[in-house]
Amino acid sequence: MTKNLVPIIEANNQYSKEFDKGDLSAQPKKNIAILTCMDARFDPAKALGLEEGDAHVIRNAGGRATDDAIRSLVVSHKLLGTVEWFLIQHTDCGMQKISDETIAKLLEDDLETAFFDGISWSNSNNAKSENSKPGSKEGYKINWYTFSSLKQSMTEDLKIIKNHSLIPSNIKVHGFIYEVSSGKLIKIEDYK
Ligand SMILES: [Zn+2]
Repeated sequence: MTKNLVPIIEANNQYSKEFDKGDLSAQPKKNIAILTCMDARFDPAKALGLEEGDAHVIRNAGGRATDDAIRSLVVSHKLLGTVEWFLIQHTDCGMQKISDETIAKLLEDDLETAFFDGISWSNSNNAKSENSKPGSKEGYKINWYTFSSLKQSMTEDLKIIKNHSLIPSNIKVHGFIYEVSSGKLIKIEDYK
């Protein structure tokens, strides 16, 4: 799949022509770090009014406080001075619609993109691509950080961040849920 290569390079040529931010410091200007989901519908820069140089944005599937997310947050504060953090998970998150067990099962079967019919996941019956590798049981060893309640996953992750021995207590951690249908941030306390 290379249909995106040319438009991406062209867009970057245009961007770099108009680029005037070569003097920015690596230290985020607003002293903000954001941990959020990789979901393509959420654009933190646009949705939160941020520009290059303003904030660290750490993303993973679900926006979960995994060991690697914590690693980045600790670097963000300890080495680059951020003091105000935002944990932003979102409505309609894919990680809420699947279990760790199901992901592992799908991967055991094959590595092709699976299909979600709105209720459950299955592997597609389409002919497999010629060079496709066989499935693997390795998926059973991975913590996929799937979750069943958004409020609960937010509460758990806020707790992990706030109680972590490498994270100082003076860091302000805000918890928000991004509503993909409205583009709004909802405070965790106000989320039903
Ligand atoms: Zn998500």
